[in-house]
Amino acid sequence: MTELLYFDNPLIFDFTATVLDVIPQEEKLSHVVLDKTYFYPTGGGQAHDIGRIDGQAVVDVRKINGSVIHVVKGNITTGNVHAQVDKNRRLRNMQAHSGQHLLSAAFLHVLEAETVAVKMSPDAASTVDISLGELTTDQIEAVETVANQVIMENRSVKSYFLAPNDPKLDVLRRAVKFDKVDGDVRIVEIDDWDMSACAGTHVPSTGMLGLLKILKVENYKGGSRVHFLVGIAALEQFRHVQQVASDVSNLLSASTNDVVNLVQKLQAERQILSKQVAEFQAVLLQNEKVELLDTAVAVEHIRLVKAEFDNKPNDALKTLGHLLGGESETVGVFVNRQGANVGVVVCASADSGVHAGNLLKAILADFDGRGGGGEPYAQGICKGLSDTATLLASIDPKVRETLIE
Ligand SMILES: [Zn+2]
Repeated sequence: MTELLYFDNPLIFDFTATVLDVIPQEEKLSHVVLDKTYFYPTGGGQAHDIGRIDGQAVVDVRKINGSVIHVVKGNITTGNVHAQVDKNRRLRNMQAHSGQHLLSAAFLHVLEAETVAVKMSPDAASTVDISLGELTTDQIEAVETVANQVIMENRSVKSYFLAPNDPKLDVLRRAVKFDKVDGDVRIVEIDDWDMSACAGTHVPSTGMLGLLKILKVENYKGGSRVHFLVGIAALEQFRHVQQVASDVSNLLSASTNDVVNLVQKLQAERQILSKQVAEFQAVLLQNEKVELLDTAVAVEHIRLVKAEFDNKPNDALKTLGHLLGGESETVGVFVNRQGANVGVVVCASADSGVHAGNLLKAILADFDGRGGGGEPYAQGICKGLSDTATLLASIDPKVRETLIE
């Protein structure tokens, strides 16, 4: 059994202890058991501490059968050791955990909403799952405001043990799970606000939480999942949001008060411009079709249009193909150079007697290409092809062959 000193004083981060056991593990890790410890092992929704024992990194802390196992990178000799708990991570864990108790009680006091699950994080948002769903912004803000009032009132947070039959256990925010608790029950009490059974580490007074901010609330399993930050983590989030707002306002050369209106205006303008661009493109492609028809050669009764492009967008090629296919007795074959590859598009009008998919297959067969399509339109690609002249020269006879078939 390890003496759990973090219960008595969670603000001690340096201590000396005696090594009771060292069990070597794989990957040069050791499980170290001390006679007493300030290291908090993972449990009750709170993450474990990290730190050092005799200069070696403590990467995980677990509680197994009453003993606290410190997972250490490296080996530890027996005897007395000097240990240090990572203060920054512990303070974040304490702020998140005390913040969770305070917030859960606020949901109960303000909205009569019970907490059904919690998860605390030292470096991301923590969550409480509450029994009430579909929360309004006003409800969320009311809870957040009350929680911050309790922080500003700097109420004391005490922890102590009660016997399992103590009548005070009946007034806890949540009933004690006696299948998980052995012996006396540890109580964490925020003065005149909340009483909970808890084995975690907590700040001595609510003022140490600084600020509690709810980030978002999502509907979850018929209730709500509330994401929140406390203390240092809330300050970091505020800095981040402030920076983003400042960057956006600089980009738009506007004050942060005006950026939302300005972005809405830009979105509306963009929509109008996109529509105009599409209209211009349609006119351009119509003109391009007329120009291409001027270059057509006769193959039997068909007007055959052959054209070469460099990196023409696929949607423009497709539109052009459909425009040509709308003409009478017309077949178009487009070769589009795209880096090391060549795209091939075939289009055929309904009265041409040519099946675009079949013609494409016949063209691609000699150039190791792949592709396919239907009667009016087909597209494919020849990878690693540089000689487009040979491909273009092969088209006329292929059209003739397709017609004879
Ligand atoms: Zn707790």
